[in-house]
Amino acid sequence: MSTEGPPRSLYVHFPFCAHRCHYCDFSVQRASDPPVSRWLAAIEVELAWWFERNGWDPGDTLDTIFVGGGTPSLMGPAGMEGLASRISAWFRIDPAHTEWTAEANPASFDAHLGSSWRATGVNRLSLGVQALDDAVLTWLGRLHDRRRAAEAVTEAMDAGFERVSVDLIFGLPPEVKRDLGAEVEAAAALDVSHLSLYGLTVEPRTPLAEWIRLGRVGAPDEERYADEYRLLSRDLRAAGYEQYEVSNFARPGAQCRHNWSYWNRTSYLALGPSAHGFLPPIRSWNVFRWDRYERALQTGRGPLEGWERVGPEEEELERIWLGLRTNRGLTPDFVRKVSSDGLRLDDWADAGWLEERNGRWMATIEGWLRLDAIAAELAGAERA
Ligand code: SF4
Repeated sequence: MSTEGPPRSLYVHFPFCAHRCHYCDFSVQRASDPPVSRWLAAIEVELAWWFERNGWDPGDTLDTIFVGGGTPSLMGPAGMEGLASRISAWFRIDPAHTEWTAEANPASFDAHLGSSWRATGVNRLSLGVQALDDAVLTWLGRLHDRRRAAEAVTEAMDAGFERVSVDLIFGLPPEVKRDLGAEVEAAAALDVSHLSLYGLTVEPRTPLAEWIRLGRVGAPDEERYADEYRLLSRDLRAAGYEQYEVSNFARPGAQCRHNWSYWNRTSYLALGPSAHGFLPPIRSWNVFRWDRYERALQTGRGPLEGWERVGPEEEELERIWLGLRTNRGLTPDFVRKVSSDGLRLDDWADAGWLEERNGRWMATIEGWLRLDAIAAELAGAERA
């Protein structure tokens, strides 16, 4: 595998949750007392594997770290300290420069964990709130209620996190009644610096997919999805958040730099089971299941399940797709080039899906709702 050099962004997957949510198909193993030491040992081996395989020199400063899951808050204070020491053997973490995000569930986060993570160097917290209505949280099977979610935000801020992000889910099945406007108002009142939206998707092989197949739960419908997306976008903008990407909102200066590394197609290293990394032009993904991932590293086989080389055509499509996801959009030169390949950007502008703003082409809210269709057409034009 050839790469351009050591990445400056790092994703680390923590694959344990206290229970498995019925809609989730992530690489997660149920564990109330996760094997943190074994996970750290595997991460240590994987870091060494990447550096040795690529001949990288240690010591470069990381721009961003993102610890996701799973439920990283179950690793406790010592788990994050252990992770910091493993990472620091290969990279420099600069408290003044490195954006270091960790995900947490309100049910397993508290003031002590917040202070300890902050002291370790974590400076951005992403809380899996999902909803601010107890009936909705019960339907989702989450382990916290609305009050606990709000307490976790306050505890994070009191612990010194200036940058707190909250996740919200939408597009639930029809029987889940919801006053989403009131929930957005409650979310805005938390006064966090960042919010991320997640539209529910029914993944095969989840309990939710089975319930829908058996008729116990109605399938989420597209109209509700679109209506709720429009409402969230409108109300969060009205509350002073900038929608800088199809699913992300931030106060000025609070955009997630780690996510921009994905959207800008810069290189990032990804550690842990199922983690996907990008060392241009190679995209790779790790062994999905925790037990198999751990065994692969213990036996010297390495973490990878697969990899692919991104060719020039795929790269161009990715650039269109990723550009339209964000409020940076596409430059006129780039649009002229891809339009001459037969794309219908003018038609999409006429339909109200794209607009030209500040000299760049960007998706509108209606365009963001149709990104999948637009991407499918882009792929078709590329093949024609
Ligand atoms: S807490 Fe998150 S990662 Fe864990 S099972 Fe639920 S949705 Fe999946």
